[in-house]
Amino acid sequence: MVTENYREVEKRVCEVCARSGRAREEVTLIAVSKYKPVEMIRELMAIGVRDFGENHAQELVSKTEEITEPLNWHFIGNLQRNKVKYVVGRACLIHSVSSLALAKEIQKEAAKKNVTVPVLVEVNIADEETKQGISEEEVYTLVREISELPNLVIRGLMAIAPPVESPEENRPYFRKLKQMQKEIAFFGLPRTEMTELSMGMTGDFEVAIEEGATMVRVGTAIFGAR
Ligand SMILES: *Cc1c(COP(=O)(O)O)cnc(C)c1O
Repeated sequence: MVTENYREVEKRVCEVCARSGRAREEVTLIAVSKYKPVEMIRELMAIGVRDFGENHAQELVSKTEEITEPLNWHFIGNLQRNKVKYVVGRACLIHSVSSLALAKEIQKEAAKKNVTVPVLVEVNIADEETKQGISEEEVYTLVREISELPNLVIRGLMAIAPPVESPEENRPYFRKLKQMQKEIAFFGLPRTEMTELSMGMTGDFEVAIEEGATMVRVGTAIFGAR
């Protein structure tokens, strides 16, 4: 079932890339496996899937202990500072950096382990009270501050769009994030590449790709309801 679902999502990603004039390779499809068993992940590994998304540090640890094959584990969840040590060295990319305090903690751990940690800055794009992420106004300052941390590289921005009836409603938010990416890239900050835009989930990944997503995070459409 998981395999069929994945293939169906993959087909939709291909179709939207084709009709919006983008190469399929420009978009990474991340299978969000949070709360789902390792067996399901293995089913997808068998068809060549390598990018998985997790949002709890503890779950990332237990899954990477069970699955020792090299995979791209994306950390997409709210990261507490005391959990940073579990994620640095395990995740290929931390999508959810939204404060300087967290970035500094990642810096500390990265220096200790002598690694460079790729991160995305999470923006609260719809200014929702319940959401993680830095506000649109504050993001520019935060990116500048993070760019001074020697063991972090900023690869772009991430956003979780609000739940909506129609995915079209989120198009303006995706467009805004793309615009912010361009503006920040223009600063030419050190260790700041701004090539990635992580946006789009089960309900709205097609619109996100049309608006420039380079990473979509799809859980429910692949693994079923949680
Ligand atoms: C759970 C989760 C997803 C996947 O959501 P679906 O709607 O199930 O596709 C994507 N991004 C983040 C940050 C998540 O926590």
